Amino acid sequence: MQIFEEDDMDIAVGTVFHNKGYELKRTLYSMSNEGIDYWFLIGGAFRDSKDPVRGTDAETYKIIDTFRTEQAELGSRGIQVIFEDMPESNEFEKRMKYLDMCRQYECDGLFIVDSDEYVYENTEWDFVTDWEKFRRYWKSWQIRFPRHNVYSVYMIHSEFLGRDVHSRCWVNPSNMVYVKGSHYKFANPEEDDFSDILFHAQTSFGIVEGITLKHDHNLRTDDDMKYRRSYQDYLANYESFLEQQNLTGHNPEIAKKLAEQRPIHLDDRCICLRCARMKGVDPEQIFDPRPRDRRQRNPYVDGIPL
Ligand SMILES: [Zn+2]
Repeated sequence: MQIFEEDDMDIAVGTVFHNKGYELKRTLYSMSNEGIDYWFLIGGAFRDSKDPVRGTDAETYKIIDTFRTEQAELGSRGIQVIFEDMPESNEFEKRMKYLDMCRQYECDGLFIVDSDEYVYENTEWDFVTDWEKFRRYWKSWQIRFPRHNVYSVYMIHSEFLGRDVHSRCWVNPSNMVYVKGSHYKFANPEEDDFSDILFHAQTSFGIVEGITLKHDHNLRTDDDMKYRRSYQDYLANYESFLEQQNLTGHNPEIAKKLAEQRPIHLDDRCICLRCARMKGVDPEQIFDPRPRDRRQRNPYVDGIPL
């Protein structure tokens, strides 16, 4: 919030979530008004999930409300929190919603962070947060490639803290849309030929440094995990049918029907502590990217994150 050199940017976080207030709280409080100007929260069950609770529950609502009040007390320096419950929308529609909000609030940057992700800090392993650097990178990409939108952020997926990059930082998000009814295909219609059969998503041109996200399910209950698994199987199945012109003609309703008639079970590749233990993964089978002389502790064996 402009506490650094004026950078004239409004950066919004876009988060699609469904309850699990304790997890959302971790995401909310991992960020700072030093780096973020708006937070677009899109709540409610996914239309096709089997979760019996459809809307945002009282516990989660209270966490959002407290956070919103605390930020409002900071005046113009606080993060402006906009929350909308969309319990009967699918994932594509929910993700389109935060893009609509970017247009409404004229944001210069959209940072997409799901509720099972958060800004990770661990000085022992050199994960430090630098919001000034974070904002500087957004601004520099915007200046360098004014017609390009997609950049990446580092994200940790394993308890050994190996990191990967994800296309979650979108500059000038008002020019972006999700395409082909998919939650992971996105384009700038002015710049990208998204009608091409091989087109998936605008390619990332670089990395926004300054922070690292971590993705894990370590706070989730057994019930939370059950609905996640069955919904994710459905979503992958549905979007794969949607792609097949000969079967569905890209019609969402036909794809939905086929996905329900022919369910699939995918191998979940998440290797967070929670998932690895739930699936009984042998710790020896998990790739350890740490230097050899720093492998004394194994979180998958002792159950304690690094
Ligand atoms: Zn997991």
